Amino acid sequence: MSDTDPFWKSKRLDEMDEAEWESLCDGCGQCCLFKLEDADTGEYALTDIACRYLDHDTCRCTDYANRRRNVPDCVKVEPGNIAALRWMPATCAYRLLAEGKELFDWHPLVSGDPESVHAAGASVRGKAVNEDIVDDLEDHVVEQLNRNMRDGMPPLGGPARPPKRD
Ligand code: SF4
Ligand code: SF4
Repeated sequence: MSDTDPFWKSKRLDEMDEAEWESLCDGCGQCCLFKLEDADTGEYALTDIACRYLDHDTCRCTDYANRRRNVPDCVKVEPGNIAALRWMPATCAYRLLAEGKELFDWHPLVSGDPESVHAAGASVRGKAVNEDIVDDLEDHVVEQLNRNMRDGMPPLGGPARPPKRD
């Protein structure tokens, strides 16, 4: 670490201010996909169904300020809970930093371009359906996404996981 390191390298998650924290979100939209959880085993399956509040082009929430009121089980990611959110995608910036890894070079903070997350194939743009047009959630469990999750690869087929920090 040096004096010129950007905040995500020089600060712990719990040291970041709100603007820094929010800017860590790469806008992939993957955490807004529905997951089905097996009540007996605790295992979960990822679907390609997105929350009705997700904008499928920007992959951002259309009512972020009110997300918890609109969707009571929308999880607020915080320094204290990120480690326990095991369904978060391997590419999620919060998860990567919590695990001591680097951000991908397509992360908008690194690339300087909010489109780079989409160009890299790491977002749900063009890959998800709105919950309002879905009848049966189980029909939308996407095997490839789940294979990728089990293999520790980015769920949506993005680049391989980065190396650990020095
Ligand atoms: S998975 Fe992480 S980086 Fe992607 S939208 Fe959700 S919080 Fe942001
Ligand atoms: S309310 Fe917004 S942030 Fe929460 S799951 Fe839906 S689209 Fe995502």
